Amino acid sequence: MPDVRVMPDALASQVAAGEVVERPSSVVKELVENSLDAGSNELRVESQRGGIALIKITDDGCGMGRDDAVLSLERHATSKLLEKEDLNAITTFGFRGEALPSIASVSRFRLMTRIKDSVSGTAIMVEGGQLKDVCEAGCPPGTTVEVRDLFYNIPARRKFLRSEATEAAHVDHQVRLHALASPGTRFIYRKDGKVAFDVPATDDRRVRIADLGGRQNLANLREVQRLEYPGMAVSGYLGSPDAARKSRRGQYVFLNGRPVEDQVVWRALAEACRGSLPTDRHTAAWLWLEMDPLLVDVNVHPSKREVRFHQPGDLRALLLEAIGSSVSRKVSSGSGPDSRSGTGSSAGTGSIIEKESSEFAYNRREEPESVASERNEQLPAVGGESLVRESDLGPTGPSFWKAEVQPELVASSSGSGDPPFRVMGVLHGSYFILEGSDGLALLEGEAARERILYETIVTVMEKGASESQGLLVPLLIELESRDLDVVLRNVDNFRSAGMEVEPFGAGTVQLRCLPSVLDKEEPRALLLDVIDELVHSAEGKSSRELTAEKFAAKLARAGAKRGRCSENEGKALLKQLFECDQPYVTPGGRPILVEFSLSELERKFAR
Ligand code: ADP
Ligand code: MG
Repeated sequence: MPDVRVMPDALASQVAAGEVVERPSSVVKELVENSLDAGSNELRVESQRGGIALIKITDDGCGMGRDDAVLSLERHATSKLLEKEDLNAITTFGFRGEALPSIASVSRFRLMTRIKDSVSGTAIMVEGGQLKDVCEAGCPPGTTVEVRDLFYNIPARRKFLRSEATEAAHVDHQVRLHALASPGTRFIYRKDGKVAFDVPATDDRRVRIADLGGRQNLANLREVQRLEYPGMAVSGYLGSPDAARKSRRGQYVFLNGRPVEDQVVWRALAEACRGSLPTDRHTAAWLWLEMDPLLVDVNVHPSKREVRFHQPGDLRALLLEAIGSSVSRKVSSGSGPDSRSGTGSSAGTGSIIEKESSEFAYNRREEPESVASERNEQLPAVGGESLVRESDLGPTGPSFWKAEVQPELVASSSGSGDPPFRVMGVLHGSYFILEGSDGLALLEGEAARERILYETIVTVMEKGASESQGLLVPLLIELESRDLDVVLRNVDNFRSAGMEVEPFGAGTVQLRCLPSVLDKEEPRALLLDVIDELVHSAEGKSSRELTAEKFAAKLARAGAKRGRCSENEGKALLKQLFECDQPYVTPGGRPILVEFSLSELERKFAR
């Protein structure tokens, strides 16, 4: 018979800590949430060595009396949720009463707290879940929690932590998220003894966005005006279309003040922006959702990052309407609440948007199926007639396009330097129409550019002589800490490819020159694209620096994105392509050229 026993409390807390405390940033999250729940106006966060050595949070919230303080360290002790009914309507960040005991069970922990009316406070020391001391302490009203040597007593967990720099990047991100979510609270963040940021309380969210996201954001924000449906409301801002990124990392969503990651919201954002952005781009967004707590379950994820909406359809409709009108306002009038940048550019925002919608129409096929199928329902909204829909291609559509790469040709003409094709024209700004000796071929411009860039960059990197051109004015770019981390890890790669990127302090990098093969018109956008590519590949892996070849592939992919195909460039592009070792596939394995043989055409025309 199994010997079933109740776990000792300290062990139970360590087990719970496995869920709640994944890494230093999760400690930050729990403690900041507690401080916000306590009604703080000012919050100091301090971290040392990625938060592994120390995390210290000081608030000026309600504090706790001695008895409450002792109780708060017991498992399932909470002041926030005492009835089962409360679980249906959670209005505070915390509610499980697990965070403090869990954190205290895997660290050297100190809590100091004082309620305003009391002359002195209480200090409690816990080590690895063992209560060491409770004593009276002189401290200001509010609460300070110190967490030292995280996982010192659980080597297996400690081993799973990444480098200090990576953990620090996660901590930075977490503090930023909360600071963005709660502009009404002053946040002071010190990192390894230096102030990383100190953002004053404000009732204008744009000020907070600008304080944290770099000044460049402020002028270009598009307001999402507050819209209310029964039980829910949304308001916020979108970034400018040209700041859109390949990843969703510029999208911040706060649900009742809590940073969340949610598919319903992401999809609605993508859908609402459809047509105003290339399909592989995601707008920057800061959205505050308010929702009747009865309509959402926040108790589905241990760290509450994911939530479950009871009426996802309504939420989607709300978002589509609110975001959609923000997007279209800008398109039709060219003057949103902050129109400086829109009217400043000669093309005007409206025309850029129209151009892009047809230019990038074909990218649809690269999307995940779920998004793409949702998309098909509403496709005609933009650039309708210029689109060839997948459904129009018939059931054999997509596979027909891909199946046409001819392996014999790859072998016979690769590297020969003589293109076996002649450029006939350009299709929708994306494809060159080519005539070959045995039929017709379509060449995807972006893919071709990617291959050419890749081989050039690899050669440059191998030769070790970087061919670069300095920027007229070195560019300073403020990066989010995770992005900065990726850049720093690849500084050598950047350099050997001819792209000088150097840390410039306070989350900023300086870009001084670019490889001569890359377009220099929008260096900032280019760098951000490269970072997105790098982050994409680094996710989930512990690799520090990419190999030169992988790096070159990322750089080429980012660099190839610029511009439409024009007939003039066709001949030169084709020539350069056929000077490459592998003119038929991109470094990532996508086809560059798809052929339709004469016999294929004859069959189709039933000749
Ligand atoms: P939860 O937040 O889920 O209630 P925690 O373990 O995080 O659980 O905290 C336990 C209790 O300790 C909270 O319910 C709250 O009453 C008290 N508490 C924690 N942190 C603070 C703080 N910074 N200020 C005041 N009270 C706090
Ligand atoms: Mg809590």
